[in-house]
Amino acid sequence: MQSEKRKAWSKQYYLRNRERMLAYSRKWQRENPEKLKAIWERQRKKDPEANRRKWREYRMRNPDKVRATVKAYRARTRDRWLAHGREYYRSHREYYASYHKAWVAKHPQEAKAIDAKQYALRKGAKATGRVTAEDWAGIKRQYAFKCAICFRRKKLERDHVKPLSKGGDHTPSNIQPLCRSCNSSKGNRLI
Ligand SMILES: [Zn+2]
Repeated sequence: MQSEKRKAWSKQYYLRNRERMLAYSRKWQRENPEKLKAIWERQRKKDPEANRRKWREYRMRNPDKVRATVKAYRARTRDRWLAHGREYYRSHREYYASYHKAWVAKHPQEAKAIDAKQYALRKGAKATGRVTAEDWAGIKRQYAFKCAICFRRKKLERDHVKPLSKGGDHTPSNIQPLCRSCNSSKGNRLI
């Protein structure tokens, strides 16, 4: 009976002083970050599942806060993870190369479109320009699958009618199909 009474009393006390106690607890946490960390660590080890659940709930209650914290952390450690990424890429270069090769083999049209776009960007084309694999197929169809200069039916390459180096855009309307020999003899001239 005594303990029941005490429990009720302490509950009342807690409810009456809730704000004050929370403020005190927050202040203590701010002033003792190391101790707080140690407590968290102990709790995490004692009941990892409960800990995960608590974090999940916290993240759901405070999405903006969590996002801001993560963003700040990423910015603070930027050099470290960039270096880590570079190092990881270096030590897995063969894996990436074979992965890339397999992707290109499986998606030849898309790979060519991406190559052409990257080439165009290097030449200074506007980044907004876009020629997809479908665009290219449509352009070739328009030219009846023939070279736009010699009209021979050969393997066709994308050529910029107005060269990128002269301010041409990497857009479907500026692309024509040329055979390899016409393309290499055309060079940077307009046609
Ligand atoms: Zn030709």
